[in-house]
Amino acid sequence: MKKLYTVSGKNVDEKKTVPFTTHHQILIVGGGSAGITVAAQLKNKLSNHDIAIIEPSEVHYYQPVWTFNAAGVFEKEKSKKLMEEVVPKDVAWIKDSVVSFNPDANTVSTAGGRMISYEYLVVAPGIQIDWDKVDGLAESIGTNGICSIYSYRSLDYTEECIKNLKSGTALFTQPNTKFKCGGAPQKIMYLASDTWKKRGDLGNINVQFTTGGSVIFGVKEVAEALGPVVKRYGVEPKFFHNLIAVKADEKIAVYDIYKDGKVVDQTEIKFDLLHVTPPQSSPDFIKNSPLADSEGWVDVDKHSMQHNKFPNIFSLGDAGSTPNAKTGAAVRKQSRVVTGNLVSLLKSGKIDTSLSYDGYGSCPLITGFGKLILAEFDYNNKITPSFPINQMKERRSMYHMKKDLLPIMYWEGMLKGRA
Ligand SMILES: Cc1cc2nc3c(=O)[nH]c(=O)nc-3n(C[C@H](O)[C@H](O)[C@H](O)COP(=O)(O)OP(=O)(O)OC[C@H]3O[C@@H](n4cnc5c(N)ncnc54)[C@H](O)[C@@H]3O)c2cc1C
Repeated sequence: MKKLYTVSGKNVDEKKTVPFTTHHQILIVGGGSAGITVAAQLKNKLSNHDIAIIEPSEVHYYQPVWTFNAAGVFEKEKSKKLMEEVVPKDVAWIKDSVVSFNPDANTVSTAGGRMISYEYLVVAPGIQIDWDKVDGLAESIGTNGICSIYSYRSLDYTEECIKNLKSGTALFTQPNTKFKCGGAPQKIMYLASDTWKKRGDLGNINVQFTTGGSVIFGVKEVAEALGPVVKRYGVEPKFFHNLIAVKADEKIAVYDIYKDGKVVDQTEIKFDLLHVTPPQSSPDFIKNSPLADSEGWVDVDKHSMQHNKFPNIFSLGDAGSTPNAKTGAAVRKQSRVVTGNLVSLLKSGKIDTSLSYDGYGSCPLITGFGKLILAEFDYNNKITPSFPINQMKERRSMYHMKKDLLPIMYWEGMLKGRA
């Protein structure tokens, strides 16, 4: 019988019983949305399985509700569960973090000094938040009106900043790197603006959307649908503005200004509230590994999710190279392809060529309290609506689906391998 270190989250005394060299048939790196979903689906599909997840965190977060939490809609504690509650029963949880890969030997090494071998590897460690890439940000977040929904720890302060602002300039940034949830920088801006509008303060607040990008949203239909929303709140969009530094004491944000892909100027904007969506990149241990593509992401085929060099390795979620919007919604679709291919490989030695990920991503754009535009699209930015209605219209029904239904579907459906 296989030896489990943590079964159903019940920790066996690791120091005494965990062998430092061990083997698993399927090893999953990361117990986030992608890692747990894949583990749960595999467990449901395979009668005999030996699956282990390597995950250092005690806590699993449902990040899509952080926007609501910071807007004071419901308590942030509802966005998290203990890891032991979400790791599927009979799947081993190795509480450690991977530091390097040796795909030729089919092994990974961990911070805790373990070397673990595998038959198949699923790489899902998410995206890295590069707070230190903006000068002065890491040390000033949570002070002087500088806040972010990209960290659980900053949610309360973000809520406080929104509540306390009565007048002045509110800056909402979007980086020129890839980042998770393309709509989040705007969702929090619209919810903040709606808070100020309802309170009668919006007229005294200059809301600016400062983005390293060139458009309000990368999908034309969605950008058009957002036009009236931007107008309603009097948001001033500033394109090609990439935040590079924060002077916290003076409350000044410093931006590089881009033209034709080059920095042509720099500008400073004084703020009263600065909501930062930080630059993001592939985790360093992935960037520095043989699994990475030229940009540092796990180099997989965009349809099969199989590694381009190592056929027994798959990746999904925010760390993968697939050029989709990095969202939990994408994970849900990608997971079916990854688990289908793994089951097929185990049974027939071949991947299932009928399975193909089409780049689906979903961005539920909260445009105010009780208002949501549900953007769903594929690799070609083609709109792929789930409902037979005009999803480009702001809808209360979609808002409640996102706020009340999707969290239940996540915890009870997706993480249990059912959705
Ligand atoms: C504010 C915000 C709003 C969002 N809104 C939405 C939304 O509305 N809809 C939507 O679909 N998506 C949304 N997302 C995005 C969604 O949360 C992510 O796309 C999704 O969580 C990606 O899943 P993942 O498993 O790749 O990464 P994660 O869920 O981040 O999990 C990665 C896991 O890997 C672990 N890990 C890291 N390093 C190591 C290591 N060295 N070894 C082992 N494990 C490691 C981490 O501890 C973590 O548990 C939002 C995200 C944010 C931050």
